[in-house]
Amino acid sequence: MKSVFVLMFSLVMIGSGCSQNSQQEKSIVVAPDIFLEYSGERIEKTDNEWKAILEPEAYYVLRQAGTERAFTGKYWDNKADGLYVCGACDLPLFSSETKFKSGTGWPSFFEPIGLGYVAEKVDRSHGWLRTEVRCVRCDGHLGHVFEDGPRPTGLRYCINSVSLKFIPDSVRHE
Ligand code: FE
Repeated sequence: MKSVFVLMFSLVMIGSGCSQNSQQEKSIVVAPDIFLEYSGERIEKTDNEWKAILEPEAYYVLRQAGTERAFTGKYWDNKADGLYVCGACDLPLFSSETKFKSGTGWPSFFEPIGLGYVAEKVDRSHGWLRTEVRCVRCDGHLGHVFEDGPRPTGLRYCINSVSLKFIPDSVRHE
């Protein structure tokens, strides 16, 4: 009897998980092997300061919400294991464990590395409604999130390569 109850409870939890979309109810499915506690600090710089630090294309995408051309970035076809950090401030953002082949020409992930690392913002530019995603620490533009991703989240974080830096596991574990 107890096992039946546990099974039913589990099914209810799984079922409700599928329909949960709000930021607060999201949970992280894949736990990366390192989970850095994000302390919540923010990095603020002037436009000129960012311009001095970033390469021109990174400045255009990260600070002016631009988009790199599909299939031109460094990471859309990167299959190596490792960690993707913010191209501007190095905050860990995505794990290769959640990367999938989307066919779009941009690196695609089904979830961020942890809760609160990636901020969402309504984007009404270009005449359609999208959800923009930004690095929570430096407010750098990363890309957009769509609800046509694979299991287990059903989300597709479509991210510009130039907004990321990849740290292979081989380097990270030295
Ligand atoms: Fe950042």
